[in-house]
Amino acid sequence: MNDNLGEPCYWCGRLMNYRDPYSRRYRTRDHLVPRSKGGTIIAKNIVMACAGCNVERGNSTDWVPFGDRPPEVEPAYALFTQQR
Ligand SMILES: [Zn+2]
Repeated sequence: MNDNLGEPCYWCGRLMNYRDPYSRRYRTRDHLVPRSKGGTIIAKNIVMACAGCNVERGNSTDWVPFGDRPPEVEPAYALFTQQR
């Protein structure tokens, strides 16, 4: 594993970058349960998500993590379009 490649976003699975805060792929901390809905700031409630997903998800709690999606529903885009 090359550490410079970064880690995948918890939601979309795309690699995040650490250097460009203006990029949609910038690595951010996302709260699984939004703080406005009683979420805590303990580590268990925090995932690393790209800025794009973090903003788009907002306070929603029904997003499915990339790693938890059924293998047969592989393409991330299909899932996205089905939901919208
Ligand atoms: Zn993402």
